[in-house]
Amino acid sequence: MKNERVITNEINSINNTLDLEKKNNCLACKNEKIISRDTIVTGFLSERIFGITDGSLIPVKIYYCTNCGFTSYDRRLSENEEKKLYSGYRSEEYQLMRQKYEEFYTKDFNYLLGHDEKGLQSRESLLSDILIKHIHNHIYNGLDYGGDLGQRYPKNFPIDNKYVYDISGVKPLEGIISLASYDMAKTIDFDFIMCNHTLEHIADLDSFVELVKGLGNINTWFYFEVPFDSPFYPWSPEKRIRNQFTLQLQRMKRYLYLRLEKVVTILAKRGHYFCQMHEHVNFFTPNAVKELLERHDFKIYYNEVNITDGNLGKVRLISILCKLNQ
Ligand SMILES: [Zn+2]
Repeated sequence: MKNERVITNEINSINNTLDLEKKNNCLACKNEKIISRDTIVTGFLSERIFGITDGSLIPVKIYYCTNCGFTSYDRRLSENEEKKLYSGYRSEEYQLMRQKYEEFYTKDFNYLLGHDEKGLQSRESLLSDILIKHIHNHIYNGLDYGGDLGQRYPKNFPIDNKYVYDISGVKPLEGIISLASYDMAKTIDFDFIMCNHTLEHIADLDSFVELVKGLGNINTWFYFEVPFDSPFYPWSPEKRIRNQFTLQLQRMKRYLYLRLEKVVTILAKRGHYFCQMHEHVNFFTPNAVKELLERHDFKIYYNEVNITDGNLGKVRLISILCKLNQ
């Protein structure tokens, strides 16, 4: 068990990193008009990434851009910290650790997240409709960047060779070709590249967009999909408040005997508990994704908010179809 001094030193070192890495400009549009709120890292992330198990709080700031609506945290995870979070993603060990802090995150819930057939079908038909409507050339080679098993390929839109590049190294579905490395992906001429529900997890957005862009050319169609959700948006507050309140309540319950004064003080003074830093470190608006991609030389052809329906409920998402500027 770590003693208090060790924990304090670790927290201080986290705070130092935080100051060094503080970004004062919006990461999507580079605007300087941002407002911030104090918040904390969730208990689950604190343990999984920083090994904190005694309830110590890691303070961070959440930023909201008044120009494009992009929301993010000042504490950006390093590559090594992202690896700690995402290696063995949704494994039994991941699920058990998460359930310690989030009681709703049961084994069944964890399984459903990756096997929601109704949700997958809904997203598939949405993607098919968008691609059929906008893409009129033949697609020989398609790539799903970070695409897990390749389950997001639409059935009604013909693509000759379906590739997947994903660091998880899992065996893809039948008919999907797995690419083991980025260099291997570089050898193929892709007509279509999609990247679904990844941007919201990425610390260094500019580098990541450049990586995805680096696998295409001026004829390649790019499709990005991200959730349309943020602590600062006015819709669906009930679900978010419920989730965040549950997170905080369970955390308080767990550490009540240790940290009562500190937790209550922070809750009372800052009212920050709707914004805790979890796996989603970026929250987009259609305008924010547009600003981000346009800064990287993309031309947007389709940029809409759509709603899909699954066993876990309705999801608002932003779908963007784009190409590199000619
Ligand atoms: Zn912005």
